[in-house]
Amino acid sequence: MKQTATADEVQAVIERIESVGAKAHVSPGSELTLIGAIGDRDHVARLGLEGHAGVDQVVPILKPYKLASSQLRGGRGSTLSIAGRKVGGDHFALIAGPCTVESRDQLLSTAQVVKDAGAAMLRGGAYKPRTSPYSFQGLGQEGLRLLQEAKEATGLPIVTELMDVRDIEPLAEVADVVQIGARNMQNYTLLSEVGRSGLPVMIKRGLSSTLEELLMSAEYVLKEGNENVMLCERGIRTFETAYRFTLDITAIPVLKELSHLPVIVDPSHAPGRRDWVPSLSLAAAAAGADGIIVETHPDPDEAICDGPQQLAAEDFAEYAQSVFRAAELAGKGASVPA
Ligand code: PEP
Ligand code: MN
Repeated sequence: MKQTATADEVQAVIERIESVGAKAHVSPGSELTLIGAIGDRDHVARLGLEGHAGVDQVVPILKPYKLASSQLRGGRGSTLSIAGRKVGGDHFALIAGPCTVESRDQLLSTAQVVKDAGAAMLRGGAYKPRTSPYSFQGLGQEGLRLLQEAKEATGLPIVTELMDVRDIEPLAEVADVVQIGARNMQNYTLLSEVGRSGLPVMIKRGLSSTLEELLMSAEYVLKEGNENVMLCERGIRTFETAYRFTLDITAIPVLKELSHLPVIVDPSHAPGRRDWVPSLSLAAAAAGADGIIVETHPDPDEAICDGPQQLAAEDFAEYAQSVFRAAELAGKGASVPA
């Protein structure tokens, strides 16, 4: 809309868009208001919005994802507020905790360590996607109960993975952010359901997924009216065999150009070894990631899963400081409770 457009003119355009069954997505800014018309392309084109009062220009979004596109916000990145913690913009969120919830002691002691080190949120899986059906699958409901206890003890918001839509209700009671794992990135029924739940969600990039496919997955959540979406780069399959996955640092500036959604990086799963985690973390933070989700454990050698890559909890505070310094290079400060 033109800078001079009135509220009535904005409203008239919204009504015109909705009259053909399309959705109007309004993004008010300090300079001007953008209205996204999401629906059948031909219907919207026939509305003749070009000449409408208050309309400045009509720009087609050529990308297959619409709501996830930065175009819809005129290139402005969004800042989410999750249980009082901001993510995006100038706010860098350090999310940390064990790969999986194993016991009360393990979880509560880790939670205290990550909180004291300035982390914004606690991670921990109660439902684990394991390559082998014979591996530990997570504590399930008992894990969720322990996460609730850790949340009450520390005040940290919880990030935990949802694998099965049937678990959404109990999980929603404790989760502040629903993690969609790399293996479920293209589970579209799961994404739509999480979209409808309205809960903040972090979608991890699939093992062999393009950035466009990741953004299409985000679109499934956004389409349900849920705008609290974060993207997560966690490493992809390449020809390299010297380590587990190739962490795609390039994805950070590219996603930030293509989309307004905050970009989180998981530096744990790509190297699969804890001594390589700090370099990847510093690279990600300095490259402008909006946060890091990293694994840490009080006794990694005894961890039930992903032991070799989990940072020892006793080293976590020093690690966190170095990550915050790298985030500062990109102009971001640690996200703190509001
Ligand atoms: C995890 O975060 O522990 C995990 C299983 O991640 P991913 O889905 O990226 O493999
Ligand atoms: Mn893990």
